[in-house]
Amino acid sequence: MKIFSASLATETSTFGPMPTGLSSFIDQGYFPAGTHPKEMTFFAGPLAAARIRCEAHGWELVEGLVACAQPSGTTTRHAYETLREELLADLRKALPVDIVVLGLHGAMVADGYEDCEGDLLMHVRQTVGAHVVVGAEIDPHCHLTPEMLAHSDMLVAFKEFPHTDVLARGLDLLDLAVAKFEQRIRPTAAVADCHMIAVIRTPDEPARSYVDRIMAMEGKNGVLSISVCHGFPFGDVASMGTKLLVYTDGDGAKAQQLADRLAAELFAMRNELEPTYPGIDEALDAALAFDGGPVVLADAADNPGDGAAGDSTFILSRLVERKIRNVAMGPLWDPVAVRIAFDAGLGACLPLRMGGKIGPFSGNPMDLVVTVKALVKDMVMTGLAGTPMSLGDCALVEADGIEIVLITLRNQAMGTDMFTQLGVDLASKKMVVVKSTQHFYASFSAIAGKVLFVDAPGSAAMDLRRLEYRKVQRPKWPLDA
Ligand SMILES: [Zn+2]
Repeated sequence: MKIFSASLATETSTFGPMPTGLSSFIDQGYFPAGTHPKEMTFFAGPLAAARIRCEAHGWELVEGLVACAQPSGTTTRHAYETLREELLADLRKALPVDIVVLGLHGAMVADGYEDCEGDLLMHVRQTVGAHVVVGAEIDPHCHLTPEMLAHSDMLVAFKEFPHTDVLARGLDLLDLAVAKFEQRIRPTAAVADCHMIAVIRTPDEPARSYVDRIMAMEGKNGVLSISVCHGFPFGDVASMGTKLLVYTDGDGAKAQQLADRLAAELFAMRNELEPTYPGIDEALDAALAFDGGPVVLADAADNPGDGAAGDSTFILSRLVERKIRNVAMGPLWDPVAVRIAFDAGLGACLPLRMGGKIGPFSGNPMDLVVTVKALVKDMVMTGLAGTPMSLGDCALVEADGIEIVLITLRNQAMGTDMFTQLGVDLASKKMVVVKSTQHFYASFSAIAGKVLFVDAPGSAAMDLRRLEYRKVQRPKWPLDA
């Protein structure tokens, strides 16, 4: 058995303030064929899974390109076509192969390509022919287009949000692909559109029980795989939205019936899936009123994981204006401020302009007199499923009782070690403000006395009714009643 694995992934916010160019991939993770490190990176779940299974069974593995970029605005045509051609060249060199397993996102949009994954899978299929098994692990925040399904044998999405199950779903994909190659199964897909766009936080009810129930159905009664595709609301493309994807073993009618039933169940619980989103001052009041432990405030609207810049100052400015102290916040993306902090040196006290640079949704830059409390070169945060996340050079500065983590490479808060490596004592803080929608939860819930999701302004604001959609198919809840 000969398996080829590669990855090309980013999540494109068509509302994002910056384009995604080649350098965005090089910053986040660009590994030409055969150079991927030993430890798993975030969109290399299929490669990590293939390594495990190939070593156990003595199969041959050819490792192609792995490239992923921090979510941002529309990918440049140059970046997408360059990386696609590199991946396809790796695949051609590896031929003949029996199985291709790819790590994709499913919501990548480039200039001239509304559906990059559909296009890439089509090229892969053309390259290998009809007899080779082609599968991909995708992110549930995908658009799940008809083309993605048509040009693959199976797609398996992460089930958890935060996405802690990258390796587990990669192994699911690999085992299905091998079973298909050995003609033990005939994966038959059905999709049901929920006609909504939902944020499905899987640690919380009712989402938790729903996902647990789905996982219990897999591998029984001819049900091979079930993926809940949440959809990505910041991608304004025709196929955006929440969908159920079911594979059965050769029974299309059964797959459709199950997908329709699960889609109807999810739609029925739509109002319960969303927590309330207090405004900034309301959230700060609630945090101050909370008796005890750090209150973690999530600034989802400026989450780089949703394509926002990660340099907005709306919450920071209210903290300063209200003279709230004993706060840690981060990450704030400001490579210039980091550079100045490094030049000033540890212990220096200086006026520093921070954040508010990229666009109107970044707010105004903050001019504060800060003390440089810590400097770390090339800091790496622990991301989901233990994957490393580079933050570049980082500085911890403090102004009036607010400690701010400044980073060089855009990322959202995932591991508490983005604070602790700089010496921040999170347990002693009244508030910890993080830029993230949900991925922070896997690590920060362990130190949080309480978690609040704040409705701040931003290019990834939680109230979708404020976005000017042009292409999305309507009606779609909650945009439409
Ligand atoms: Zn996702």
